Amino acid sequence: MSQLELKNLYDDFRDGETIKAYAKIIAQDAKKLEKPINIMEVCGGHTHTIMKFGLPQLLPANVNFIHGPGCPVCIMPKERIDHAYVLSMQENVILVTLGDMIKVPGSNGSLQDARAKGADVRFVYSPMECLKIAADNKLFAIGF
Ligand code: SF4
Repeated sequence: MSQLELKNLYDDFRDGETIKAYAKIIAQDAKKLEKPINIMEVCGGHTHTIMKFGLPQLLPANVNFIHGPGCPVCIMPKERIDHAYVLSMQENVILVTLGDMIKVPGSNGSLQDARAKGADVRFVYSPMECLKIAADNKLFAIGF
């Protein structure tokens, strides 16, 4: 898709008059609700977009967004990666992380970078894999 086609695609979603018209329709329909409804997005990318474009302000009071968990890759503060990086560089530490997290950059580099420098960083795709590693080692866990 060319840059122009992409711009045209975005323009359709960012047309102020269209958005106001949809907000009006939603507000009218929301008057028929017997109780408030909550809509949870589970993707951090959606949360960023919802907040960036002020969508909660467009909705009537009885329609709420609840910001769901998101994947660790999106919602992890950089400081947490920095702490994990430092921890992984300590002697006799095995740092186990969700697979997608290993490439997320911190201030000093990613956990993959730490591994390249000799840290024992292992990635897993399930807490059960982590438990297998923990069975023979001491465990400190975040996010499971
Ligand atoms: S990493 Fe997960 S939460 Fe973030 S944008 Fe992708 S799917 Fe959504």
